Amino acid sequence: MEVEQFFDDAFGKTVELGNTLAEHHDNADLWDIADGLLAGAIQYWLYSRQPCGKVDCEECEPIATAEARLQELKRLVTQFAEESEYYHSPSDVNVGRA
Ligand SMILES: [Zn+2]
Repeated sequence: MEVEQFFDDAFGKTVELGNTLAEHHDNADLWDIADGLLAGAIQYWLYSRQPCGKVDCEECEPIATAEARLQELKRLVTQFAEESEYYHSPSDVNVGRA
């Protein structure tokens, strides 16, 4: 599988999981489901970004400290949010109503 296919597969399955959870729990709050998915995704991401432990490893340099990992995580969060079709909403309060 190509790298992009792994990404698309993980992305699609995460959204599917959210939909499945919402269907199976009638009184579920979508915000709670989404928060849980996000927390799980962050957990997995942090797990995947543990430095290898080699001194002066260049590949791990951007994620070599907790602060650096959080910075990288925030960069990705901003990127993925801005790329999302739901980033802007027609009901945003700063949307002009003519
Ligand atoms: Zn490394």
